[in-house]
Amino acid sequence: MILPILQYGDPVLRGKGTRVEEIDDRIRELIADMIETMHAANGVGLAAQQIGEALQLTVLDISQVEDRPSTLKLNGKEADPKSAMPLVLINPEIELLDETEVGTEGCLSFPEITGEIERAKSVRARAQTLEGGIIEIEASGFLARAIQHEDDHLNGILFIDRMNSAAKAALSSRLKRLQKETKRGIKHREAFVSETTL
Ligand SMILES: [Zn+2]
Repeated sequence: MILPILQYGDPVLRGKGTRVEEIDDRIRELIADMIETMHAANGVGLAAQQIGEALQLTVLDISQVEDRPSTLKLNGKEADPKSAMPLVLINPEIELLDETEVGTEGCLSFPEITGEIERAKSVRARAQTLEGGIIEIEASGFLARAIQHEDDHLNGILFIDRMNSAAKAALSSRLKRLQKETKRGIKHREAFVSETTL
């Protein structure tokens, strides 16, 4: 099922995700829906916060990205980043490795807005798998960037928080407009819910 993606201004995006304690049918269904939603939106990653659930859970798929290379090691072994997608990270712990570099990012919660963001060139991540095991990932390049972007979401951090002040100032009126539209949308939804539940 394709889920609506929350836009900037929705308070859930600022929520720190709680741990997924049990991988049950609800979580499995949520993950399947998140992957479907990410693909439908042509995104490379989607965090649980973006579909309204403040959980330590994110999905990624960089297999359609041709122009920005990535490397991947799964449990210490070289792996083809494309064939390892989609990647599901449950309760991930991220360690930043290496120096940083600046690169362009967008976000499904910020339609048509991009920014230049400084990130570590490579990361190590430990996360639970759908099967209940632990996976260790080492990624560099675009995948490392995507993992850091999604991990930020899980902690309520948005990519605009990492833009420099000039870039943020240049975007400020667009961000305010987006925030307003989102708040209006939430009010409509709440009004609709109270009408239909009376
Ligand atoms: Zn995002």
